This record gives sequence, C-alpha cells and structure tokens, in this order.
Amino acid sequence: MNLGKSQLIKGAKNDFVFVIGLEVHAQVASKSKLFSSASTQFGAEPNSNVSFIDAGMPGMLPVVNSFCIEQAVKTGLGINAEINLVSRFDRKNYFYPDLPQGYQISQLYEPIVGKGKIAIQSEEKLPKEVGIERIHLEQDAGKSIHDMDPTTSFVDLNRTGIALMEIVSKPEINSPFEAVEYIKKLRLIMRYLETCDGNMQEGSLRADVNVSVCEVNTFKIFVETGDFDLLGTRCEIKNMNSLKFIQQAINFEARRQIKLIEAGKSVKQETRLYDPSKNETRPLRSKEDAHDYRYFPCPDLLKIEIKKEWIDKIRNNLPELPDQKQSRFVDDFNITPYDAEVIIAEQVTAEFFEAIATNTDGKIAANLLINELFGRLNKGNLSFKENPITVKQMRELINLIKSDKISSKGSKEIFDHIWKSGGNPAELVNELGLEQVQDTGIIEKIVDDVVKENPAQVDKVKSNPKLIGWFVGQVMKKSQGKADPKIINQIVNQKLK
Ligand code: ADP
Ligand code: MG
Repeated sequence: MNLGKSQLIKGAKNDFVFVIGLEVHAQVASKSKLFSSASTQFGAEPNSNVSFIDAGMPGMLPVVNSFCIEQAVKTGLGINAEINLVSRFDRKNYFYPDLPQGYQISQLYEPIVGKGKIAIQSEEKLPKEVGIERIHLEQDAGKSIHDMDPTTSFVDLNRTGIALMEIVSKPEINSPFEAVEYIKKLRLIMRYLETCDGNMQEGSLRADVNVSVCEVNTFKIFVETGDFDLLGTRCEIKNMNSLKFIQQAINFEARRQIKLIEAGKSVKQETRLYDPSKNETRPLRSKEDAHDYRYFPCPDLLKIEIKKEWIDKIRNNLPELPDQKQSRFVDDFNITPYDAEVIIAEQVTAEFFEAIATNTDGKIAANLLINELFGRLNKGNLSFKENPITVKQMRELINLIKSDKISSKGSKEIFDHIWKSGGNPAELVNELGLEQVQDTGIIEKIVDDVVKENPAQVDKVKSNPKLIGWFVGQVMKKSQGKADPKIINQIVNQKLK
C-alpha cells in the first residue's frame, strides 16, 4: 500500500490520512416531482409549483413517478451497481417549517440501487476505484428564506417533493482532490445518462461531506483488514454545492480533527457547516441516529417491484459512457489519454471531435480542438454552443495540415480567419497566400544560397552540429515562412553533414 503525498497530512509526531465519504444528492432530471405532477422548473415564482400532495394536505395520496424510478435504475447501471428488484419507501420523520408533511419519504431499509463503483485518478495520477454503498430515492424539502425581511421568515415550497437520488459512497476517498474527482466523474456519468443535469449553482447537485482522519499506521492495518472500526470518528459537513469549497472544507476539517487528537481530546461525531468567508467549519447539531427519525415503511405506497427484463432493456439502451468513450478515442484516433479526457468532458465536444477526426487525423484534430478552439472559447468565456466553427471547416483544415499544404503557422492564421469571419479553409490558403512550398528544387536553391552567403557558419557547423538549426531558420526566413520545414531539414542535413 503506497500512500500518495496528496493523501497525507503532516502531524506533530505521525502523519495522518484523509478519510472521506460523500453523500451526493442529485436532482433527477424529471419535469414533474417524485410523487406529484407539479413542475420542477427552476426559478419559478415562489410557491407556484406546489400540488396538494407537496403541501402535505390531509388525505392526499402520493403516486410514484415511474420516470424517476427509471432514472435511478439508469444511474445505478451507469456506476456498475446492483439494481434491487424490490425496493421500498420509508418515512423519515422530523419537523421543519419547509417540510409540510412532517416527514420526508425516503428509502432506508431497501434502496433501489445497491453496491457499485466509480473509477477516478488520484492526484498522483494513480487509478483507483471508489465504492458506492447505495443509491436511494427521496423527496427534496422546500426552502426557508430568512434574509428577505428583518422580522419575517418565508417558505418556498417549489422544491418540496422534487426527486433526489442520494448516492452514498464508501469512505474510500482519501484526499480533497479525490473528492472533487469523484464528484466530477459522477456528474459526468449522470450527464451522459441524462439522469441529472449536474448544475451545482442551481442546487441540482449537492454533497454532504463526511470527513475523518486516520493515523497512517492504523490506516495501513485498515487497508489490509478492511475493518471500518479502525477508522476515526467522522464529522459531516452539510449541503455543499461548490467543488472549491468542498476542497477547502475538507482541508480545514481534517486539520481541526488532528489538532484535537494531538491535544489528547476526541473528535465528536456531529454535523457541521462550512463558512467560506472565514474558511472554517462550525458545529450545526450533534448527529442524529437513524432511530431519532422513527423511520417506518410509508403506508401510502406499495413496494416498488421491477422486472429483470425492464432493467435489461434499459441496460441495452445506455449510451456509451465517459470511460468507455475515452479509451475508444485513444484506440481509434491515436490520441493521448489526457487529450481524450479533455475532449470527453462534455458530450457535445466528444461528438464534435468524432465528427472532425473520423477519416482525417485524430492527433491534428485533437490539437486544433483543444489548443485552438477550446483556447478561444475559454478566452471569450463562451460555451461550446456558441462555437462558430463548423465540422466541415475543421475537416478541411485538418486535411490541409495533414497533406502538408500549409504550415502550422499557416493553420493558425486560417483558424483565426474562420473564427473571426468564417470562410472555407481550402480557399483561404490561396486568398491569404499560405500555400507551403514543397518543391524540393526551389528549397534546395534557397539552401545553396544560404550556404554560399555564410561560409563562416558552415565551418562552425562542422564542430557544432547544433548550428544546423540556424540554417533551417535562415532558409525558412528567405522563403518568407512558406517552405515545408520537413523538407528544409532534410536538405540542410544532406548538404552540411
Ligand atoms: P449514517 O447512516 O450514520 O449516516 P452511513 O453509513 O450512511 O452512516 O454513512 C454516511 C456516510 O459517511 C457515507 O458516505 C460513508 O462513506 C461516510 N463515512 C462512514 N464512516 C466514515 C468515516 N470514518 N470517515 C469518513 N466518512 C465516513
Ligand atoms: Mg446516511
């Protein structure tokens, strides 16, 4: 067991390891709520998307939205998880002003999805798998608003009853970096599956972050034995929706716990809040145990029974997932795993790449896409939807580069032109006078001239072969940047070696 630097925190005597488990709440991409037909539209007028069921009116009965069940199954299949043929909803009882029913319908004992896993990379670029304990479906609560008026609090029930998938990881995440990678990977998979839009600003993806620390030698025994009792007491940081703050909160919280342990005190299991303005976590409440909620099976709902054939049908219709796509791009298009990872980070960019790289040249396509196109989009703070360059233009440009019709400098000029004012790359070669000279006769003549004009340099080359580069530069200059560098190199080497 080799621990990476990023997984360790220096202590006064011994080093500690980060131990992190995430409970991610992902809003199901569904137009209506989990148990009612009310709309889930974001940003609607407060309390305009509330049915009698969501408002907890007496005598109302919830009806399961089968689309939401399907999305949870899809997500489960996307993380290689067991799908439970029978699952059940339970009531989790607690009082909160934004929870009009007085309980949340959730799944404790028999969740719809069981154990699965997600592959990530550590900061040291080592592959690792994070186990998923379960995914269960539950209702979201509403929102209490305390900062609109000095004396009155308000409640907005639009969120109430929206379907959430709670994706619970095992405590197998071992650095703030890995926590972020895990969430990004999970989000990417759900975006490919279209089961959750992953929009963290709008609250479609939030995480409760459980953090503990483990002295490094104890951790090694934990890895060998798999005995979770060896791990330290955890604190849960609630409701985080920023990757940057998640990283900061973990870093703060782990160090806080180490200070306690080293002072001979113990860590109390509790729920904490992260305050970004102070970069610290603060206690919110001591952690409730499941029995505090008096969970019991929801008497208003039947068990969810699903058929194996239905699951198989969903499985057979799954799209190609990010990991598969990445390795296929590496194999089919001969690009680096890193480039492939950048390209598949959004489905639209992956599709665009495939369209421009098929039967042209993968390496040139990746280079143009990442360095020229993404570069300009980033600079202008534009999304890929606003990309003005077409597949046809890209393919033409790639072919021009591949056939050495233009130099790499020329290709940048053409790219600039089509980015700003459109046009056909093939026609622009002539219009902008960028055709690369490949006539060996012409290039040889220039090389001869340069050699003739610089006898002193020719002498020097004999003792210092590195100076050949200087000749190549001179020839390029004389050709006004138009000669093919590959051919110049060949001829200069022939003549001077
Ligand atoms: P509970 O039901 O008490 O909330 P769970 O077993 O559901 O406990 O765990 C909740 C989350 O806490 C999971 O994501 C799990 O990985 C994480 N977790 C459990 N033990 C630890 C620990 N020692 N350190 C960090 N995270 C932990
Ligand atoms: Mg839990």
